[in-house]
Amino acid sequence: MSHVFPRHTKALPPMAVGGEGCYLIDASGKRYFDGSGGAAVSCLGHGDPEIIAAIQEQVGKLAFAHTGFFTSEPAEGLADMLAANAPGDLDRVYLVSGGSEATEAAIKLARQYHVERGEPQRRHIIARKQSYHGNTLGALAAGGNEWRREQFAPLLVNFSHISACYEYVLRRADESAFEYGQRAAQELEDEILRLGEDSVIAFMAEPVVGATAGAVPAVEGYLKRIREICDTYGVLLILDEVMCGMGRTGYLFACDYDDVVPDILCIAKGLGAGYQPIGAMLCTKEIYETIENGSGFFQHGHTYIGHPVAAAAGRAVLTAILERGLPERVRVMGEKLDAALREEFGQHPNIGDIRGRGFFRGLELVADRETKEVLDPSLRTAARIKKAAFEAGLICYPMSGTRDGRNGDHVLLAPPFITTEAQIGEIVEKLSSAIGSVLETV
Ligand code: PMP
Repeated sequence: MSHVFPRHTKALPPMAVGGEGCYLIDASGKRYFDGSGGAAVSCLGHGDPEIIAAIQEQVGKLAFAHTGFFTSEPAEGLADMLAANAPGDLDRVYLVSGGSEATEAAIKLARQYHVERGEPQRRHIIARKQSYHGNTLGALAAGGNEWRREQFAPLLVNFSHISACYEYVLRRADESAFEYGQRAAQELEDEILRLGEDSVIAFMAEPVVGATAGAVPAVEGYLKRIREICDTYGVLLILDEVMCGMGRTGYLFACDYDDVVPDILCIAKGLGAGYQPIGAMLCTKEIYETIENGSGFFQHGHTYIGHPVAAAAGRAVLTAILERGLPERVRVMGEKLDAALREEFGQHPNIGDIRGRGFFRGLELVADRETKEVLDPSLRTAARIKKAAFEAGLICYPMSGTRDGRNGDHVLLAPPFITTEAQIGEIVEKLSSAIGSVLETV
């Protein structure tokens, strides 16, 4: 009997005992292709000797020193590297232990910034219906996924939720992608005006929606218009790149593609690549100095912020991503993955959309391609695909996500950046047999 929880099944899942490159290995010796890097985490694959050496070296030198007393060389080094490579003037870095801590910190930093600049009446945060920002109460309130929120609703502060930019479902036939993006962004201005034009703290969004939708990028021009609206009303723009950042989309930061610089940027998963739990919140000098010149410090903190071993791992991962040219590789190989998915599933009667960027790709499952009607949720299609793929030796990330209010099934792929062309073939072949076996019975 195991006392480890949570588990989604009553039976004990396989025991993971090793990892080699793109594969995880269980106690029976079975190998699984890690086609989603867990949940877009293991971007360098498993067992990378350089990252392991950096962690070993740091743990031997200094495992922990509380940031109430000290800084550390790896924390400073990682922050310098992030600041040097981040878009625009995002050059202040707050190191945390994961994605929810990063988004939670962003929410509090945004509020404190406005309070310190003498605008305490700003008390609303706007986010989007189709989004996930983490499972702590603040981050959960920001997210729009009803399934995750439902039981905790009485504990959640009241965030506003506008529609996400979700071209496949929400673009009308009579508008171009660009026109649709402008219309979707207009919802933000309408909501700011409804709440009161000087009462909004921040707008929070994932540049490419991950867990709730399966790699949905915003259409061209959407984020630029969002940036303009935020600027007009003094609303901070928080971009959550916990899943889509760190090279995953073929750009070090997903917003580099859109040429938009947020005021606060959250990253996590790919920053530690699974070797250590780490996340970061980056903000502009302006935000930081407003607080530094006001009360003097950000009223927040956790015991493990700036953890030296996690920071050493983060620095080694970022170095590897940059020195090995991985964003460029992901851009090229991501196109090959997209082409392979289109070839295999492009005509499939139950696959309505194939989308994404780089090594962040999604398939949306539908009952009918014409009407885009979702599959009956009681069929639990996503969960069954996950199971069938796992049995076939492929880890992918199928979810029943929020489809702007309704539930829809999708499959998310986020393979390691080192995935080869032959391995793209392996992913597609295994996914195809899993989807085939599940949909046969639908
Ligand atoms: N934001 C986004 C966009 C995420 O995808 C996730 C995790 N799936 C989180 C925040 C929360 O990160 P964590 O699970 O590390 O707390």
